[in-house]
Amino acid sequence: MGRSKRFAIIGGGIGGLSLAIAMQRKGFQVTVYENAPSIKPLGAGLGLAANAVRAFMEIGISEDVLEAGAVLKKITIKNQQGKVLATTDSEKIGRKYNVVNNFTIHRADLHEVLLRHLNEGSLQLGRGCTDFVQNASEVKITFQDGSFATADYVIACDGVHSLFRKKLLPESLLRYAGYTCWRAVIEDLPSSLDLNETSETWGAGGRFGIAPLNNNRLYWFACVNANENDQQKSAYGVKELLKHFAEFHSPIPEILRKTKDHQLIWNDIVDIKPLKRFAFGRILLMGDAAHATTPNMGQGACMAIEDAAILANMLSDSRSVDETFLAFERKRIHRTTTIVKESWQLGRVAQWENKLLITLRDALLRLTPPSVAEKQIRFIQDVSFQ
Ligand SMILES: Cc1cc2nc3c(=O)[nH]c(=O)nc-3n(C[C@H](O)[C@H](O)[C@H](O)COP(=O)(O)OP(=O)(O)OC[C@H]3O[C@@H](n4cnc5c(N)ncnc54)[C@H](O)[C@@H]3O)c2cc1C
Repeated sequence: MGRSKRFAIIGGGIGGLSLAIAMQRKGFQVTVYENAPSIKPLGAGLGLAANAVRAFMEIGISEDVLEAGAVLKKITIKNQQGKVLATTDSEKIGRKYNVVNNFTIHRADLHEVLLRHLNEGSLQLGRGCTDFVQNASEVKITFQDGSFATADYVIACDGVHSLFRKKLLPESLLRYAGYTCWRAVIEDLPSSLDLNETSETWGAGGRFGIAPLNNNRLYWFACVNANENDQQKSAYGVKELLKHFAEFHSPIPEILRKTKDHQLIWNDIVDIKPLKRFAFGRILLMGDAAHATTPNMGQGACMAIEDAAILANMLSDSRSVDETFLAFERKRIHRTTTIVKESWQLGRVAQWENKLLITLRDALLRLTPPSVAEKQIRFIQDVSFQ
């Protein structure tokens, strides 16, 4: 229906690029406007679950994405001493549902695959949008250098700090989760590392996650309770992190010792209080701009990729674009809200510091049957792309 229309996508992150590819493959005219002046191989790792893999299958680029990452066999949660509290056999579940459900990839490698599939000339770098106005026939977008562009429709994929969301919904709320996070990718791996497993260790002083990547690389993250924008913690280097996680089981201290200060990426963990609207006439919010979540379920990018595959499919049917934007909002709001809320709760429990609560939580985790994790994976992968 909208193939004669001009679509502008604001933001060339995972969501924006996935959407551009999905739409271009269906014959839509798309231009992506990205704030960054150049594409640099930055960022840490990402865990992508079955829904993201299925969404990439729907878009038609899953083989290239899977080739650029690693499929792992199990997910474990451990206590500070290294005792396993819960294990998910991802390989077995993957075979049962015929889907990859524990996949890791370096962000830069995912970006490289996405850029390779984008139509030449459709990405404009150094085009940070500073304002926009919509009228009955188009949207005018202004950029930081004072230039402007017009489009019939805009899809705002401009991330958690979205300019579009802030202007369209000034009352929307960015929520600090109460913990801060360091991440890094290292290439010098401890010999005791299990390369088939992603793991999270939940201790009294914080949480440490380990996710092997392809090509003998490792992605790790560490979450510690802190005040928002805590000056002392934001200045932590490897030495301070090593001190903080000194009592954590092997190979966590070794991983930190093998990390260099310049490899650390630090940020506070935030999400957006679930929104009631994504569609605003000729403008649609998508990805983190619409439903940024805490990373506890590893679902932020997965939902952005789902959005991309679903929106491209919905735009291809016979409805008008305005109606499709509203139908997208109706379809997506319940699922994304559920995940944002569950992820928020999971983060609170995982970051508990009270010893008694931790003992109870760990005992409960040990008693939880594998079928519960399997149910969760079924919910995650059970997404309809139509
Ligand atoms: C610590 C951490 C770990 C995470 N781990 C995982 C994980 O394992 N699995 C997972 O699925 N998700 C994970 N996520 C979430 C994931 O990173 C995001 O959900 C995902 O990047 C969202 O994609 P997006 O395209 O919507 O936004 P972004 O990736 O933020 O992209 C937005 C893009 O818009 C551009 N932009 C912003 N403003 C403008 C503007 N005004 N004009 C033009 N361009 C603009 C930005 O430069 C950027 O390129 C994690 C997040 C964090 C913080």
